[in-house]
Amino acid sequence: MKNQPLYQATIEKTINCPQCGDSLPLHFKWTKLVQCPSCKSSIFLEDDSLKLIGKASALSPEPSLLKLGEPISIDNKTYLPLGKIRYSYGRGFWEEWFLTGEANREFWLSVDEGDFVLESKAKIVMPFKNIDRLSIGKKYGKFVVTEIGKGECVGFEGELPENIAIGKTHQYAHLSEGGTSLITAESSPNGMKIFRGNWIDPFSIKKVYG
Ligand SMILES: [Zn+2]
Repeated sequence: MKNQPLYQATIEKTINCPQCGDSLPLHFKWTKLVQCPSCKSSIFLEDDSLKLIGKASALSPEPSLLKLGEPISIDNKTYLPLGKIRYSYGRGFWEEWFLTGEANREFWLSVDEGDFVLESKAKIVMPFKNIDRLSIGKKYGKFVVTEIGKGECVGFEGELPENIAIGKTHQYAHLSEGGTSLITAESSPNGMKIFRGNWIDPFSIKKVYG
């Protein structure tokens, strides 16, 4: 396979599951939450201590373009899917995949049926503090509110850079600029989180063979 970057996942550190003792290699320096693949326990990493925060039922498997631990490339950039969070919106669900890119950068790929959005955290101050105040069509500079939604966090797999609140409602809004670029605002207990990125053509997502 020419033009495919050679890929090797690096192990940042290895912990032992406090429940079953299995060794868990972690691939991201700032991982906060990991699910033990052997016993499905959720482990929260706090400074240097490990806290068992329960056992979640495994997510039902769904056909997906992405697999945990299998690198992909999008527009010639390589990403490693390390974790995913599943949100239910009643009749269905969507998933947020946590990916690491070059230089251990953190990315999120949101997969909602056929819609793929690749984003990273952005330091943008939005002229609103509360997603509830937004309405579709409202303009903020070059950005227009195009989607407001919410879902219940139902579970996760793999490793994540943050703790999640299973069973809690997650609120978000998309603000689009033109056809491809967008900002996503998410409600979180510590205020709003802002991400910036692009809609992705699923056909541009390729497997990378290491
Ligand atoms: Zn375990």
